[in-house]
Amino acid sequence: MNILEGKTALITGGNRGIGRAIVETFAREGANIVFTGRGEMSATLAETLKSIGANYEYVCADASSFSEAEKVAHCCIEKFGRIDILVNNAGITHDTLLMRMTENDWDTVISTNLKSCFNYTKAVQSAMLKQRSGSIINISSVVGIGGNAGQCNYAASKAGIIGLTKSVAKEIGSRNIRCNAIAPGFIETDMTHHLSDEMRKSLLSTIALRRLGTPQDIANIALFLASDAAGYITAQVIQCDGGM
Ligand code: NDP
Repeated sequence: MNILEGKTALITGGNRGIGRAIVETFAREGANIVFTGRGEMSATLAETLKSIGANYEYVCADASSFSEAEKVAHCCIEKFGRIDILVNNAGITHDTLLMRMTENDWDTVISTNLKSCFNYTKAVQSAMLKQRSGSIINISSVVGIGGNAGQCNYAASKAGIIGLTKSVAKEIGSRNIRCNAIAPGFIETDMTHHLSDEMRKSLLSTIALRRLGTPQDIANIALFLASDAAGYITAQVIQCDGGM
């Protein structure tokens, strides 16, 4: 099926993990893709996109930079003439207890995870307003809903994303622009790679489905929210955590 045929998607942090699964899934469903990362584009991803026959552009851009976000949106319009879908996925952790957390730990996580969503929402807003349509999908976290010891900066950034999502939805919903958040639980990516066997075991006992999620689990929800099938869904936070 080509659920996203004729649509153009901008995805931040698409080289690895959840972002990469979203890039591949959207490309398979016929979307034109512009995606970002911090360094070189992944060679294996380039191979996959070639085999799909995807139309795409990779841009090296720091998601926390307001001016770079504007350049990426501009590139998207230049190449594909429109922006139908924005996925604010780029994110990092700098975990430590509040007692040890530095100002830099706080600022870096807030600007990469939360300010980036502001940057890219601003950057795509005028194109979506002109088109009178759009779907913005922000990747939050269950930690933004429930909090987590050792992640004050990360949890605050992800809770902030939920406030931003609901406010943007209310501000521009009348122009047929939807804005939703996905709150993943623990997903198998580089971000959760460091979990010890012991932590993993105790974590699994709290998850009803008794497994960590996969990037594809999240990409499937992003695909639904991006598609016309979700045309009456906005201002929502969809938790995908295996029943934690
Ligand atoms: P990964 O660490 O696997 O990938 C992070 C991605 O974000 C990479 O593509 C990275 O780019 C990109 N990125 C990081 N900083 C920047 C930046 N400043 N500018 C542009 N791109 C950047 O993480 P996940 O795939 O696990 O996480 C993706 C999103 O999902 C994040 O927002 C994360 O907080 C969220 N999430 C993840 C969960 C999990 O359990 N994994 C749970 C809940 C939420 P590059 O490859 O170039 O470094």
